[in-house]
Amino acid sequence: PNLETKDMKYEEDARNINIRPEQLDDFIGQKDLIQNLKVFIKAAQTRTEALDHVLLCGPPGLGKTTLAHILSKELRVSFRATSGPLLNKAGDLAAVLTTLNAKDVLFIDEIHRLNRSIEEVLYTAMEDFCLDILVGEGPSTRTLRIDISPFTLLGATTRIGLLSAPLRDRFGIPLHLEFYSFTELVEVIKRGAMVLSTEIEESAAREIACRARGTPRIALRLLRRIRDFVEMEINRRITYEVANSALLKLGVDKMGLNKLDMDYLRFLSNTSGPVGIDTISIALSENVGNIEETVEPYLIKINFVQRTLRGRILTYQANKYLQSSSGELLGK
Ligand code: ADP
Repeated sequence: PNLETKDMKYEEDARNINIRPEQLDDFIGQKDLIQNLKVFIKAAQTRTEALDHVLLCGPPGLGKTTLAHILSKELRVSFRATSGPLLNKAGDLAAVLTTLNAKDVLFIDEIHRLNRSIEEVLYTAMEDFCLDILVGEGPSTRTLRIDISPFTLLGATTRIGLLSAPLRDRFGIPLHLEFYSFTELVEVIKRGAMVLSTEIEESAAREIACRARGTPRIALRLLRRIRDFVEMEINRRITYEVANSALLKLGVDKMGLNKLDMDYLRFLSNTSGPVGIDTISIALSENVGNIEETVEPYLIKINFVQRTLRGRILTYQANKYLQSSSGELLGK
């Protein structure tokens, strides 16, 4: 199921390409992070050096890939992209690294899924801009050192905890993306509607923003689905009423929680005491990674769930919410 989600993500973002902001000044939100990046870019350009390696971490859909693209544009260098699970052998990584030009950007998505042998090749590449390749067999084995151009590695991860310390420490610029505020999401939605040439009422944009789980990808996904509902109409305007009824049909509740979130909350509320992640995973037939990556960060952010050493617990707010919304999404 996890792979399916990833494929969906790429397919969806391919359609979003023209919605993607192209420069740092068009990037909505993450203000402090953007401010810092501007300073680092300027400094690297003044020194005519490659930008230090950047690690982008945060839940899916917050703009890591978008930022990576923008960075290469701002630095006026070429952009190469790959991902942790795609690199199977050290040779795969060497093949990419040896074709980079000076100061180019290499983006590795899901960098926490790199295997250890490849990580080790990456260490010297990041630190000394060279590759140590083993050649020959048995007693005649020797190490061949190949120099590569100084480059900038942009690593993205949804699970910083799974990154090994030596790899994490080699990133000079670690950046944490935060969930977006309501106002920022309204802006993302209005900008998205403009790019899609769709008119949207302010109150409709606000309603979508409330239900977007602090995540631009979700905001834009909801916008596109709601736009389908007005596609057939003459003025194609997304009004508050249209947005509201479409959101209900899409099974997105007032807080943006979907069926999996609600199942998670209900399971915790029906179980006494802290519950371990493995128990939750079995009960919901959902893998641990997906729960930790896509379900929990937002529930923790809105203070519905707390993670303790002994397990997950539901907060008072979550219990109150479950009582007030009981039935709204049942069976969806
Ligand atoms: P991630 O790599 O963190 O999973 P992406 O960079 O692929 O997220 O972003 C997901 C979608 O949300 C893309 O379509 C992108 O255009 C949009 N998006 C992300 N951040 C922003 C932002 N700050 N402003 C506008 N759109 C954004």
